[in-house]
Parts: sequence; C-alpha cells; structure tokens
Amino acid sequence: MHTWDLTPLYPSLDSEAFKNDTEKLKALVAKMNTTVDEMTANHENETAKLENYITLQQELMLLSRTLGGYCHLLLSTNTADDAATKAEEVLQTIMNGCVSARTRATAWIAGCDLDTCIAASTLLKEHEFILKEEKDAMAHQLSEKEELIIASMKQTGSDAWARLKNQMIGAHTVLMVQDGETKELPLTVVLNMAYHPDKAVRKAAYEAEIASYKKDENVIAACLSGIKGEVLTTSALRGYASPLEMTLINSRMDQETLDAMLTAIREYLPVFRKYLRAKAEKLGYTNGLPFYEMYAPVSEASKTYTYEDACDFLKKHFKAFDEDLYNMACRAIEENWIDVESRPGKVGGAFCSGVPSLKQSRVLLNFSNSFKSVVTMAHELGHAFHNECAKEESLLNLNSPMQLAETASTFNETIVKKAAIASMEKDEALAVLESEVSGCNQVIVDIYSRYLFETALFESRKNGAVSAKELCEMMDKAQEESYGDGLDPEYRHPYMWTWKPHYYYAGRNFYNFPYAFGQLFAKGLYAKYLEQGKDFVPVYKKLLATTGKMSIYDCCMSVGINVRDVNFWRSSLDMIKEDVDLFCELVK
Ligand SMILES: [Zn+2]
Repeated sequence: MHTWDLTPLYPSLDSEAFKNDTEKLKALVAKMNTTVDEMTANHENETAKLENYITLQQELMLLSRTLGGYCHLLLSTNTADDAATKAEEVLQTIMNGCVSARTRATAWIAGCDLDTCIAASTLLKEHEFILKEEKDAMAHQLSEKEELIIASMKQTGSDAWARLKNQMIGAHTVLMVQDGETKELPLTVVLNMAYHPDKAVRKAAYEAEIASYKKDENVIAACLSGIKGEVLTTSALRGYASPLEMTLINSRMDQETLDAMLTAIREYLPVFRKYLRAKAEKLGYTNGLPFYEMYAPVSEASKTYTYEDACDFLKKHFKAFDEDLYNMACRAIEENWIDVESRPGKVGGAFCSGVPSLKQSRVLLNFSNSFKSVVTMAHELGHAFHNECAKEESLLNLNSPMQLAETASTFNETIVKKAAIASMEKDEALAVLESEVSGCNQVIVDIYSRYLFETALFESRKNGAVSAKELCEMMDKAQEESYGDGLDPEYRHPYMWTWKPHYYYAGRNFYNFPYAFGQLFAKGLYAKYLEQGKDFVPVYKKLLATTGKMSIYDCCMSVGINVRDVNFWRSSLDMIKEDVDLFCELVK
C-alpha cells in the first residue's frame, strides 16, 4: 500500500503545531479587519496601504491553505474522519470573519489611483493584473442594496430551480426490459450501459432513456428556462452586453480568441466525422454512428500495469521531455506525495492539490492497473509540475482560468499516449487511440454542440420561456450542425439538456468552450514542442509559471503564442487529425 505522507505539514490534528497555527490564523483575521478599517478610512498613502494589504493577504492565504489543505487531504483518504471535519468547520468559521473586510477592501481599491501606486512599488507591480481586474470587476457591481436584493432573489430563483432540477434528475428512473422483465432503473445505471460490451443492451438503454424523459421534461425545461432567464436579467443589470461577454471577462478571455478557436474547430469538423463514420463501419452501421454507440468499445485493451510499471513508464518518458519534470516525478514517487490504491473510506477519482507551504503537491489516485490509470497518474503529475513551475510566484497570482489550468496535465497525457501508441501491439494501440480520439471528439465536437445549443437557448429565452419541445429542437439542430453526417440522424440525442449539470449553474454560463480551449491549447503546445524540440521546453515552463497573473492572450503572447491566430488552433487540430488518420487505418 502506497499512502501519501502528510507529516511534513503537521504531525497530527491534535499536535501543538496545528493548534498554534489555528490560533495564528485567528489573529491574522483580526489583523485583517483592523487593517482594512484603517485602510478604507481615507485615500491617503494608498501605495503603502495597498502593499500592507497585499502582504497580509498573502500571509492569510498561505496559512489558511496550509491548515485547510491538511484537513482536506486527511478527509479525502478517510471521509469518516470526524476530527478533520470538525477542524475544517472551525477554520471555515474563522475565515468567514474576513469576508466583509474583503468586500470593503475591493470597493476601496476601485477608488484608488492604481497606476500611480503600481509605478511606485515592485510588490504592487507584481500584482498589477489582479489589482486591476478587481477594480474592473467593481464596474459591474451594483449598489449594496441592489446586490442584496439579487442575492436574496437568487435563493428563491436560480438556486431553487437548480435544486428542483437536481431532485428531478436524482429521482429520475427509466423503465427497461431486462431478462423479459420490465424494471425501473436509476438514470445513472442506464447511462452507464453506453459502455456495455453488448450492442443490443446499448441500444435498448438509449431507447429506454429517451422515452423516459416524457414524464419529467416540462418540469426540467421550466428549471432551465428559469435559470437562463435570471442570468439574462442579472447580466444586463450588471452592464454586460451578453452572458457570453460576462463569461469571457470572468475567464480572462476575449471574443477574438474565441472566434479564432471556433473557426478552426468548424474547419476540422469533417475530421471528426471521418472518425465517427469509421467507428460506425467497424461496428456494422452504414449511415453514421448512432448516438448510443459513442462510447462503445472497439477493441479490448488487456495489458495491465502495476504501480511500479506505471512509475517506470512515466519516469522514462518524462525524462525524454525534460529533466525537471523527471526529477519532480521521482521526488513525488520517492517522497510519498502520492496516495495510490483504493481503500474503504477514500474518495473516488483523482486529484492533485498544491501544498504551497512545502512548495510541493499531493496527488490522490485510485490506481487500478489499467493503462487509463497510468494516463490519470500522468495527468495529475502534470498539475503537480504546473505547481512546481509556479512555486516562486505570489500565492495571489496562482489563480489560473479554467482554459489554462489543464495545460500541463493535458500536455503530460499527450506525452504518455503518443509514447504508448508508438510502442504497443496493434490491438492495444487501437484501444488507446480510440479512447484518445473519442475523448477529443467529446471535448471538441460535443462541446461545440453545447456551445451552439446554449447560444440558441439564450437567444430564444430573451423572448420568453422556452418549452421542452423547443429545447429538444435546439439540441437536435446543434448536434446536426456539429456532428453532421458523423452521427446517424435517426439516432441523435435531443434530450442532452436534461441531465448535463453544466447548463444549470447560474454563476457559470457557457461552461463548455473552456474545455475545448484547454484540450486544444495543450495540443498546440505539443505541436510547438515537436517543431522546436528542446528549445521549446523553457518556453513551456515559463508559460506555466505565469498562467495565473495575466489575461489568456497576454500570457500566451509572453511566450510568443498568438491564440487569436487561427493557425495556432489549426496546428492543435492537426495533432488530433494525425490520431484520427491512424485510427482509421488500424480499424480497417
Ligand atoms: Zn486536471
């Protein structure tokens, strides 16, 4: 059993060190309140006050992340740890003590002459982007009274709609005939049948699922219509041209970059359709792939990997890319940063969590001896490497937008998959390729359909409530436009708006194109690596250090990558095209 070592953080929850730091945190929160009181009293000595505020914020963040991170890591390997749950609650209560001070500070910063302050201070210069971002965000803030009204109405509006939708989908059942008997199955069980090895089961599950929505569609449509209506109202009140503009500004991206990416995606849709048709033919269909075959296996991957195999494999291929990545992976393995195997009480899935006080990371896996597990390990070690490259940056500058947060993880996946495909037997390689290409198809083509759907939904919602029938028509049209003849038109999925949670977050609209950006951006970087070889590696590491302190465009431009140029995105998509071509050849 390989478990992670948390003792460099604290010996235990009831250690003196943990208790002392908790007391220190309380004192820092109190200090934050008095500092903000003094700071916001007037606009004298802005530079010195801002420096003081930033320094205090850094201290507070470091300590709260150390304490909170420790509890979180303990809980993720033992969800029943009552002491850690309690400690986490205590920390949360302490941190709530500075929420209103933060709000007051932000309002005060908006009134500062930032340019003069920044010109006079290296510390402030270092935090220029986040300071200005905070100031700009204030321009979209309403009066305190209006904000209060919106917040209260949200509880009975979008929050309530989202809760109702979750209840509906959580309780949603599907009638399906199994072994000659009609059974009422939970939706998740039926959705999982998309991976079933038997074609008849996959088809029956799809048909039963589609038929099951009739009973709930009007209620779920009312939820979605209500949420999107609220977003239109609040984004207009806040002075945004559209929900899309609000999303772009909040994620530090611009319309020109989005347009360049979407233009390239549209150009390459035929590549994905070629893949879908090849997969369809392999499975015995002549009119494109039915939606229910999207996740159908085409080849069995049987090779297994022990954790030790995975370590050797990753170390070997990381070393070929970069010595620093290799060294960090060795440290992660030898110094027990990784919690490897599943065990009772441990959370599922995988994640990487930065531990800034140690300048290290911790990685949680549920390693299952499959190649997929090796890829997941590479992915999470990519996040750890991202943390490693940015470890000298200010903690306040580490908040990367979603589009850039998966850069190093996706890049690592690409390193590993390319190496694996090149060295595997045909059947094994086909299984890896299929999972890679089908994953890209989801993140590019399906995401594009979701983007089209959400755009149409907002347009339609401007003129009043949207019905279930209209939502189905919009979804069908979005799938036709993105999947084209890759999907069998008889078997698309008009109800994809029902259970996908992403459409129902009022605070996160267009929660789709950032996924495509993340995937394609990492592929584009890999294309640059292939083109420039070793010279590219320092550029890549510099980029990773700065993803949290600039706009996406400026961050990429700082290392000479122009994300407003369609050609950059074409080079990303060419990487996928190569895999599609190889897939089509192997699948014959
Ligand atoms: Zn990730």
